[in-house]
Amino acid sequence: MTTTDTTPSDAGPIAERERFDSLDPATGAVVGTHPVHSAADVDRAVARARIASDTWADLDFDGRAPKLAAWKALITSRADELAELVRAETGKPTGDAMLEIVLAVDHLAWATKHAPKVLKRRSVNPGLLMSNMGATLEYLPFGVIGVIGPWNYPVFTPMGSIAYALAAGNAVVFKPSEHTPGVGEWLGRTAAEAMGIPGLLEVVTGFGETGGALVQAGVDKVAFTGSTATGKKIMAAASETLTPVLIECGGKDAMLVDADADLDAAADAAAWGGMSNAGQTCVGVERVYVHTDVYDEFVDKVVAEASAVEAGSGDQADIGPITMPSQLEVIRGHIHDALARGGRALVGGEDAVDDRYARPTVLVDVPEDSVAVTDETFGPTLTIARVRDMDEAVEKANASRYGLGSTVYSGERGPELARRLRSGMTAVNSVISFAGIPSLPFGGVGDSGFGRIHGPDGLREFTRPKAVARQR
Ligand code: NAD
Repeated sequence: MTTTDTTPSDAGPIAERERFDSLDPATGAVVGTHPVHSAADVDRAVARARIASDTWADLDFDGRAPKLAAWKALITSRADELAELVRAETGKPTGDAMLEIVLAVDHLAWATKHAPKVLKRRSVNPGLLMSNMGATLEYLPFGVIGVIGPWNYPVFTPMGSIAYALAAGNAVVFKPSEHTPGVGEWLGRTAAEAMGIPGLLEVVTGFGETGGALVQAGVDKVAFTGSTATGKKIMAAASETLTPVLIECGGKDAMLVDADADLDAAADAAAWGGMSNAGQTCVGVERVYVHTDVYDEFVDKVVAEASAVEAGSGDQADIGPITMPSQLEVIRGHIHDALARGGRALVGGEDAVDDRYARPTVLVDVPEDSVAVTDETFGPTLTIARVRDMDEAVEKANASRYGLGSTVYSGERGPELARRLRSGMTAVNSVISFAGIPSLPFGGVGDSGFGRIHGPDGLREFTRPKAVARQR
């Protein structure tokens, strides 16, 4: 559990502790063995982080920046090693693993550079009625942040909270997914090595119980990224102690394709957005609504693009296996329901899902109340639906209970349609993922959660605003 040794010194020899394996999803081979940390272990981790948080806060921005820069440099210099670990624990191609590392260090650099500007104490005009007063506003660190992360982007996603929490002056206790504990421990080890403050980034490993213990361990805020079902449990548990929560959950992102859209670009975006990372992306495109005038042409283009996507375990493959075996059943179930209810698979189908891989599937004529349209599939599947106009497209896109990201391809009306979409982020005529833009807030509405990571809002999420007014 400590950042340099996975066994707490006062918790007995490692052989006596319950342990679990992380597995390579492509082969089933054991990648590493990790402790299942108990509630008592988690409490000790939080206590160590509490001590570190005082040291860290006292350093202020100028003292913290070189340490965070040293961590960034260490991650960068050992990126090959980390990418191999990400590949082994998630199954994704090494190039994709490297991409998420590059994005993660970019966020670390952005948060480090901008924290002083966004959070430092500033004078505030208290207004005419209080003209005899002076006032200051300052954003103070909470103390200790509990970060609970998923497996799909095991470096990038938690870094969206960890980097901003640290840059704002907090210590962190991080619980990585049970599928990617090795990546989590790697981050903890390198943080300790580069920044030299024991307890600053504690890592606890295990299953949901360990995450639940972290929520109950007296941390000052919980930053959770994962499924909506778990997000709701965490919020309920945190309500007992009024612990603030930041909840980033799943999505069912829609793409809108207008009659005057660049169809080649839109089809490319739909295939990339739907299939990359084998569809295991919170902001992956899952539903596409296409203007009737261009529907047939667009569908042909997507079918061609999706048919060319190769699934496999080597780095020549476009997409790897499905990381979490139980997700294969969910993907197969969504395809089955869509087909049973009159949908057609133009690419893939139920047979595209075996016991390790889900190959691309493109579904049409799927009823809007089918689970393939209403629920997060988290696999390389797309549903494409014809709409008579863009008002119908907006209405159907917004009918989802999720609202994380969305995409619009349109010649003229992109920005207008984007504003009407009920989602935290909308890309217009681009395949850009908001995840890669450190200066913009990232987060959703509805069942996709609340609060924002990244950007100035992401820094402020890890602080308490402190107002001081004084008589002049
Ligand atoms: P998950 O909810 O199963 O697990 C996430 C984390 O929560 C894991 O570390 C898990 O051990 C822990 N956990 C489970 N039960 C818990 C409990 N009762 N108390 C505390 N912690 C608990 O999610 P997952 O399968 O790891 O991740 C996939 C999901 O994450 C998808 O829905 C995806 O869309 C979402 N996701 C969202 C974003 C975003 O930024 N919005 C980013 C990446 C992934």
